[in-house]
Amino acid sequence: ERQQRIRNFSIVAHIDHGKSTLADRILEMTDSISKREMKNQILDDMELERERGITIKLNAVALTYHAQDGEDYIFHLIDTPGHVDFSYEVSRSLAACEGAILVVDATQGVEAQTLANVYLALDNDLEILPVINKIDLPSADAEGTKAQIEEEIGLDTSEAVDISAKSGLGVDQVLEKIVQDIPAPTGDLEAPLKALIFDSKYDDYRGVVLSVRVFEGTVKKGDQIKFVNSGAEYEVAEVGINSPKPLARDLLMAGDVGYITASIKDIKDARVGDTITAANNPAPEALHGYRQMQPMVYAGLYPTDNAKFNDLREALEKLQLNDASLTFEPESSQALGFGFRCGFLGMLHMDVIQERLEREFNLDLITTAPSVTYHVYQHDGEMLEVENPAEMPDVTLIKSIEEPFVKASIMVPNDYVGAVMELCQRKRGQFDTMEYLSDTRVNVIYHIPLAEIIYDFFDRLKSSTRGYASLDYEIDDYRPSDLVKIDILLNGDRVDALSFISHRSFAEERGREIASKLKKIIPRQNFEIPIQAAIGSKIIARTNIKAYRKDVTARIHTGDPDRRAKLLDKQKRGKKRMKAVGRVEVPQAAFMAVLQTD
Ligand code: GDP
Ligand code: MG
Repeated sequence: ERQQRIRNFSIVAHIDHGKSTLADRILEMTDSISKREMKNQILDDMELERERGITIKLNAVALTYHAQDGEDYIFHLIDTPGHVDFSYEVSRSLAACEGAILVVDATQGVEAQTLANVYLALDNDLEILPVINKIDLPSADAEGTKAQIEEEIGLDTSEAVDISAKSGLGVDQVLEKIVQDIPAPTGDLEAPLKALIFDSKYDDYRGVVLSVRVFEGTVKKGDQIKFVNSGAEYEVAEVGINSPKPLARDLLMAGDVGYITASIKDIKDARVGDTITAANNPAPEALHGYRQMQPMVYAGLYPTDNAKFNDLREALEKLQLNDASLTFEPESSQALGFGFRCGFLGMLHMDVIQERLEREFNLDLITTAPSVTYHVYQHDGEMLEVENPAEMPDVTLIKSIEEPFVKASIMVPNDYVGAVMELCQRKRGQFDTMEYLSDTRVNVIYHIPLAEIIYDFFDRLKSSTRGYASLDYEIDDYRPSDLVKIDILLNGDRVDALSFISHRSFAEERGREIASKLKKIIPRQNFEIPIQAAIGSKIIARTNIKAYRKDVTARIHTGDPDRRAKLLDKQKRGKKRMKAVGRVEVPQAAFMAVLQTD
């Protein structure tokens, strides 16, 4: 039976341990695409992913493997991102699988997200196949890495395969292990349809394209389907698999991973995590679905050209379909006009969304400094959730403020424990516990304000441990903090988009830092611009930007009109990501100045 020859699996790892490279080798060694089409990291098909060398969106692909037992097997490989911001994507892809290949870099050993991914895989009852990668490197310690996996994770590594995903060494054994050790899917072909939507994207021609894992029954073109949560019904236009290009099929059956299109134009009808069933013979209940992710970081996104507001809304709607963890709602700023307050899982996620909006939708955007959600308790008994520092109520109304804390696990060699604790302490962390993973490594657990994590924690952690520490965190709880709002005034006007929240003990220092940074970032103009930082009406820092003397272009001789035109053009382009705030031209970098540290 065909179901017996299907294997659904993911590859999980800490970032840079070699997931995408292994996926490339597996693709090459199975029948999926011709060598001609092969390019590095083919699953990372977003331009942005290839440039950054990281995986952002999960990607599912169907492969045919001719095994040593003479049979052909169908592999559904789902590549997953490793960065902490995207663990949401990881858990969604795992829900569609029976097994996971755990890649561990033999030069690095077990790291924080190795552990986090193993827990996710175990939560989904997956068979885990450990694979030791990069054994071609002189510093690789395959045996030590296995010992570490046994000791720190408790997984049996006696059958772990040593590989070089780069050269392909050992990958053939991984393919055989997939066949032998990962269970074939089960699921009744005669039962009513039950399929889980684990991803979706919008296609201008086909409408919403749903990535699904069929758990029970079958689905084919012409079937009337129903979305259990939204209640919407549609007729299936096409079913198929990605190989990795979409390939139409007659039928998807229990155990298959593939796509469904149904001319769905309203993206709200078909949310990721919903269950698809047959309209005339619905399954009695939905599949478990997914945990709805709470955004952790909020920032304002504004088009530099105010006329593009509706384009931005449409772009966000389309991106949200592809990335359910993105949230947005309209907001307005005196300084920036009309835009959206967007919620992200973390800083990398925010960066990626901004870049995708600019590249894929051709928008020029200004992003404000990210903020977390504060719980503000007022004297009148009301509690406000404040995502935008500009909306912080007047100090006289505030009784107390709570901010979100994360539970951070930092894995580090013994020698750096002191440095890690010092950093956590400085970032207002509260010590929880310390677990000895082995004689040489420790897992240090702290509760740290999320606002400090998004500020510069990760960079500091890397530099104070010479890159040896790895970090994983999850949102924990709200705890009271002594926080104040700091306003920035340019040329005497308060710029709402530059307001930020700080712990009181850092307020003056941060106010001074930011004023001097803005002084460097904002170009001189033909009048003097005072910059001030203030808490309420109290000025805590001030500086000013001197006026220019002359128009730069005036110095270019009129004998060379070409050069003058070029220079003006260059200035104009430089202005694209500028925003006029009152009389002052403010570049994008100024809005992020709050975050940069030197
Ligand atoms: P991912 O973040 O887990 O997807 O990791 P990538 O597959 O992008 O690999 C991260 C880096 O490690 C890339 O520069 C790869 O070329 C490199 N790499 C991956 N596997 C191997 C290997 O077996 N040997 C060596 N020497 N480098 C590898
Ligand atoms: Mg990758």
